[in-house]
Amino acid sequence: MGIEEDTLDLIKKNKDGIYQNALWKELDIDSRKCSRIVAKLLKEGKITREKATVNGSNTYLIRATSPEKKNFKLLLAGNMFSPCTGCRLACQPESCEALTEWILHLDEEKDGQEAKT
Ligand code: SF4
Repeated sequence: MGIEEDTLDLIKKNKDGIYQNALWKELDIDSRKCSRIVAKLLKEGKITREKATVNGSNTYLIRATSPEKKNFKLLLAGNMFSPCTGCRLACQPESCEALTEWILHLDEEKDGQEAKT
């Protein structure tokens, strides 16, 4: 297994994330090489990174991207989450105002994307 796979595995094992300044030490590589691997994994969308401070030192908290998170986009119309998620109403989609409004947002978003291309 290559160093990138090892890095991703180690990140995935740390469910709450791992600090970048601990990551390279655990992998027994230098910090510059670790930064390059992290940048590549970020670009591939396999991890997320946010600024963090540990014992006064600036670093990053690295987390593996969960497949569920990627799929959230399918439930969003702009900033509007699907009304069906967790809905407990007696479902009648053909007369549901919340669903109609959400679908209209989907259309607006699609129109906006088409206008950009
Ligand atoms: S269509 Fe309307 S009633 Fe049915 S699940 Fe979605 S939001 Fe709820």
